[in-house]
Amino acid sequence: VATVLSQVTLLDGTGADPVRDASIVFEGGVIRAVTAGAVADEWLGPEHRRHQLSGATVLPGLVDAHVHLVFSGGTDPRTDVLAASDGALELLALGNAQRALAAGITTLRDCGSRGLLVQRLRDQVNSGRLVGPTILAAGPPICAARGHLWFMQGSLATAGSPAELVRARAGEGVDLIKVMASGGHLTPGSNPREAEIPAAVLIEITETAHQLGLRVAAHAHGADAIAGCVDAGVDTIEHCSWLGDAEGFDYRPEVVDRMVARGVVISPAVPAYFRHGRAAHPAEQDYVTALVASRLRTTSLMRERGVGMIIGTDAGCPGLAFDSYAATMPVYTEGFGLSPMQALMAATSRGARALGLDDRLGSLVVGKQADLLVLDGDPLSDLSALGRVRQVYRGGRLVAENGVLTG
Ligand SMILES: [Zn+2]
Repeated sequence: VATVLSQVTLLDGTGADPVRDASIVFEGGVIRAVTAGAVADEWLGPEHRRHQLSGATVLPGLVDAHVHLVFSGGTDPRTDVLAASDGALELLALGNAQRALAAGITTLRDCGSRGLLVQRLRDQVNSGRLVGPTILAAGPPICAARGHLWFMQGSLATAGSPAELVRARAGEGVDLIKVMASGGHLTPGSNPREAEIPAAVLIEITETAHQLGLRVAAHAHGADAIAGCVDAGVDTIEHCSWLGDAEGFDYRPEVVDRMVARGVVISPAVPAYFRHGRAAHPAEQDYVTALVASRLRTTSLMRERGVGMIIGTDAGCPGLAFDSYAATMPVYTEGFGLSPMQALMAATSRGARALGLDDRLGSLVVGKQADLLVLDGDPLSDLSALGRVRQVYRGGRLVAENGVLTG
């Protein structure tokens, strides 16, 4: 049975101008037609569903390139993860994935979980047993022996060699490799400024992953770690904060030029609070103020030099909800200088391309999967419309309406 959404503004995600008073037809989970004006009954056949949605904009479902499905969003994910059973984390991950889906995020890249939890959730969604978004799973992130996120059980100390660890991840059915090239904020004893994995090991990890057909997402706050990731040829750099060795910041234009030449994409994964720069704890305010100012500046400079950018929320980390995508978008436009159209492309077609999913996701083009987001209003003129979700379709099926999962 075909479904037709008509009288809508279509924004296809490719960067093409919006089409007003348009129709989109999908059937069997796949987009069959995208056209200006109405679609005749004869063309559709006797059985079809019509939704007239005047005032609505239809765009591809959003791609959140950086989440942690097994994190609670509480103040201390490490303690929560260490204390929780697999069963509790499975339920948490399902709830998180469904909250994202109801907010119009039809694709999630999980950038680090425990054991097989997210792969299992992905498989259950793919088989149709559970309702959820498309999920890419990195499994436990590869990190230094007591490095950032060691408690996810993916440290280099758990295998004989870096290549062996990558092959173990592949054997566990991951969709990508996540590597923690620098320290991070969530792990006591880990310093975000420091490179925690030697450059030669980054190369071994990346080469092995690529041989196995897996992309590599590398977490890097410090400038040395960023340079190591670029030289290793990772696919995306998460955060890319340019922290200096000891203090301050160390932005390196020559490294950015190599990123552009090699097609390395950045996934800033900034929290929504970057809009106002208020720290969660007053004691951290000076650090957060400096971090926000520097990251807005350096990420804008990277964009001006031609680095590709995708959008992630880091949902699951302290205070970061799985439906915070719309709230994060102004950081990309007002903070990093993307136009609304560029930000929407980063959120859809460019996100899908960076994740290797653009053969079937990320744009409203005939033949692609019918993952659609129906908004009240026009996000090109008012980005906050992204938060006014009327309907979400995944694979042609209506999965959420007015923010509530419909099954
Ligand atoms: Zn993260």
